[in-house]
Amino acid sequence: MFTSFSLAGIEMPEHLERLREDVRRFLRAEFAAGSYTRDPAGWDRYDAAFTRKIAAQGWIGMTWPRVYGGHERTSLERYVVTEELLAAGAPVRAHWLADRQFGPLLLAAGSEAQKRTYLPRIAAGECFVCVGMSESDSGSDLASIRTRATPTDGGWRISGRKVWTSYAHKAHLMNLFARTSPYDHDNRHAGVTQFIVDLDWPGITINPIINLAGDHDFNEVIFDDVLVPDDRVIGAVGSGWTQVSGELAHERAGSERWLNAYGVLVHLLDSAGPHPDRGALEQIGRLVTHLWTLHRMSFSLAGLLNQGVVPAVEAALVKDLGNQFDQDIPEAARRVVSAEARARLPAEDPFNAMLDRALLYAPSYPIRGGTREILRGIIARGLGLR
Ligand SMILES: Cc1cc2nc3c(=O)[nH]c(=O)nc-3n(C[C@H](O)[C@H](O)[C@H](O)COP(=O)(O)OP(=O)(O)OC[C@H]3O[C@@H](n4cnc5c(N)ncnc54)[C@H](O)[C@@H]3O)c2cc1C
Repeated sequence: MFTSFSLAGIEMPEHLERLREDVRRFLRAEFAAGSYTRDPAGWDRYDAAFTRKIAAQGWIGMTWPRVYGGHERTSLERYVVTEELLAAGAPVRAHWLADRQFGPLLLAAGSEAQKRTYLPRIAAGECFVCVGMSESDSGSDLASIRTRATPTDGGWRISGRKVWTSYAHKAHLMNLFARTSPYDHDNRHAGVTQFIVDLDWPGITINPIINLAGDHDFNEVIFDDVLVPDDRVIGAVGSGWTQVSGELAHERAGSERWLNAYGVLVHLLDSAGPHPDRGALEQIGRLVTHLWTLHRMSFSLAGLLNQGVVPAVEAALVKDLGNQFDQDIPEAARRVVSAEARARLPAEDPFNAMLDRALLYAPSYPIRGGTREILRGIIARGLGLR
């Protein structure tokens, strides 16, 4: 029996196509001016200066109220802007988490003072946030976290160790998930709380973790008796689980879940030329139909967000399909363009570098933001299958 599932098709209204053209014009001009290089994994490229340019266009905090520095536009408009930025391989990582999930979290659960303090700075591209959920033995099973917040005069003392914290070394704030009362086996989701932590506070150590591609994108973050004032608690003490669940739907809903290898697909199309052989035609045709389907599904998710729905099951489905798509592209590219043909490419041709990068990053896609097995469990439950 279906418990809740809805991904109705939505037509793209004309004013959104005009907005899409505005974003493309901006990106063309910035690219021509040399302010960014197209990176197929632009979502993972951190460039604070470029983020401020995006902010100046009004493209951060697009759906937030004006009183908090937002622009009161729709989730559909935000979708179009983010899709274009990602498809162009623009470096968007600096503001991405704050725009995608920390801002909506504060709007839903934050205090008035928190909204007024952080949202305008985020929308201006001046305040960057990382997410401190995972620990070494608590990734999928987030309720088992051991980072502990103990009440003290006027606040909390926090000790523990977070891992895989993307861009903690460049962010100003962490959205920290910590246990505020002892683990209760019968009520595992109780007693966890979210905090806003300044990453330059005493007692915080950030150590790099180098990924498979040799890049420094995530970190280990150690908290040693860090004093966090009471006004940094997000929502009510103990309500962290419900808040995080809402946040994860935002985290999984966007086109960043299936546009990571888009640049490789475009190059593949170009290199196949106007008369590809049958094998190439089949591989590329399959990828392009999947791309279009994911685009339609993701746009529907934006429609649900726009109605104030939290599409947890639908987002899990799109993320899982999107992760598979992002892994399929480099594999198809390897089959279509032979190793001999790749070796013959001139040094200045970016295809080899793009493909190498896509292959090295591909294993991370079905892990970050919720693993494949966990997502499929959520989907099965949502469809009433377990
Ligand atoms: C590139 C990248 C960036 C990340 N950035 C951040 C970040 O900024 N902040 C943050 O907090 N975290 C971040 N993470 C961590 C990420 O959220 C976790 O890696 C993820 O949730 C999985 O947790 P884990 O690594 O502990 O694996 P585990 O939970 O130990 O899972 C290991 C394997 O067991 C499977 N498994 C686990 N439980 C079950 C189950 N019940 N049923 C079936 N199979 C199961 C999983 O699917 C997986 O295959 C990042 C991870 C990556 C790869």
